[in-house]
Amino acid sequence: MSEKPKVAWYWCASCGGCEESFVDLAERLLKVFEAVDIVFCPVAMDFKREDVEKLPDGSITVALINGGIRLKEHEEMVKLLRKKSKIVIAYGACSAWGGIPGLANLYNLDEALERKYLEVPTIENPKEVLPTKKIIVNIPEAKMKAELELPEPLPVLLPLDKVIDVDYYIPGCPPTPDVFWNALQALLSGNLPPKGAIVGASNRSLCDECSLNETKPEKVLVKEFKRPDKAKPEPNKCLLAQGFLCMGPVTRGGCTALCIKGNMPCTGCFGLLDGIVDYGGKAISYFGSILDYSPVEEKEIKKAFDGIPDWIGTIYRYSLAASKLSHKAGIKKPKRIKEVVEI
Ligand code: SF4
Ligand code: SF4
Ligand code: SF4
Repeated sequence: MSEKPKVAWYWCASCGGCEESFVDLAERLLKVFEAVDIVFCPVAMDFKREDVEKLPDGSITVALINGGIRLKEHEEMVKLLRKKSKIVIAYGACSAWGGIPGLANLYNLDEALERKYLEVPTIENPKEVLPTKKIIVNIPEAKMKAELELPEPLPVLLPLDKVIDVDYYIPGCPPTPDVFWNALQALLSGNLPPKGAIVGASNRSLCDECSLNETKPEKVLVKEFKRPDKAKPEPNKCLLAQGFLCMGPVTRGGCTALCIKGNMPCTGCFGLLDGIVDYGGKAISYFGSILDYSPVEEKEIKKAFDGIPDWIGTIYRYSLAASKLSHKAGIKKPKRIKEVVEI
């Protein structure tokens, strides 16, 4: 009997949604377990780094890696998985393009730590404790000291292909179970697409699979951009034609227009279509093409664009780290991270 393909699954800087998408395969999970051997999956089973180190190079058939590369530990692990795997897949928007955590690249690490640990309204941290590389904890009852070490953060969050060679990409935040399933079928069939391809999704825009496409006019022109938290969309009518900033025309299809079915505009998590170099650049030109410039009063145009309060978060919500902007200029070594703290 021939050996089953070996699959590894590793998470880097992730929210857990990508792992959830695996669980959402529901009963199809049983078919996955029948078809492959999972040789590394620390989120679900007790695997250690040494388990991967012991495997022969190239012995893992497919490594699925989700989340962005934010820590030295992530960098080391993905390099190890690359060495051990025939095929490496960037799974989900964070791994492919940096995703939402990649928006932290607008700040240097000190600014990001201050925001996260000291400033956000939901944090309570009166002693202003920040992450430390090493903490020595005195335990008087046991007459001993314990040492805890945190993995070192990288100055910016990196998409996977900025750290290792990546063979394929599965898009989405997270990828839907069907997209994951389609990709898995394609990979296990041995019928592999060209290196660097997106697998499991479509190469047509989201509008193409949206049930509201029939109501989208040939030429969309809007006088203002609306937000779904400020105005309620009419049902059964293209959201873009109503002025809601739906990214469907510039976003890859494959999710079956899930958000639109919930009356929410697409925010672009399936990313850019083949042949487009930069999602944000494409999005900007798209905004320009649908804005009705008549009357050409500057204040009218300004009012229209005021409907978009967070430009970077809108056009680079999932892809800032992989974009031409990538990160804040002059990234420097963080001062706020202490080497050792004894408590
Ligand atoms: S792609 Fe989305 S769901 Fe997956 S880890 Fe990133 S934020 Fe979470
Ligand atoms: S609602 Fe969005 S995805 Fe659907 S047709 Fe209109 S622009 Fe395209
Ligand atoms: S509609 Fe847009 S944001 Fe929603 S899942 Fe599909 S691609 Fe992602």
